Amino acid sequence: MKNMFLLFCLMFSLNSNAQNFDQETWNKFHEKGDVDYKVDKNILGWIKVSTHSSSTEESEMIMKHVEESIMSANIFFNRSGIKKCNKKNLMVFFIDDKILNDQDLMSFLGWEKWNRLDINGAYEGVYAPRKTGVIFISKTPSGKDIRQLISHEIAHYWQDTHCGLPISETSAWAFEKHYIENK
Ligand SMILES: [Zn+2]
Repeated sequence: MKNMFLLFCLMFSLNSNAQNFDQETWNKFHEKGDVDYKVDKNILGWIKVSTHSSSTEESEMIMKHVEESIMSANIFFNRSGIKKCNKKNLMVFFIDDKILNDQDLMSFLGWEKWNRLDINGAYEGVYAPRKTGVIFISKTPSGKDIRQLISHEIAHYWQDTHCGLPISETSAWAFEKHYIENK
């Protein structure tokens, strides 16, 4: 029954107020999240991406999907009027579903906004280290595969870092659909 209510896409108010970042809560997440294995890559010459998980193999696998999604988003959202205007690094955490949905540990996510229901993934542009966007992906999502979840959250990262691209679920879903269907 719970699965019927699983959400997979979340948005927060997207601005870069550094005062929203709480180092202590962030550290606690790092301690418990099992995210010690990191892979770095510079994508498109302006996005410094790092993926974080419990093994190098997993982090490399996530990086592969993230890169593929970014390359696709760069083409999909390449329309007149859409311009990169808010450069941010990107951190992607691939974590156990139990960790992602631990509302005490992940207290920095806006749980009230989706009635405290379980989630499969999230993009966070406010509660994040300065000039950084953060994506969280569940290792055992319900209903959607990891590639699809990543593409959806990459669309939100794109909305956060580009002007002329309104923050919306509609365009995130449109990109997700395009990405999955054109593979
Ligand atoms: Zn969404």
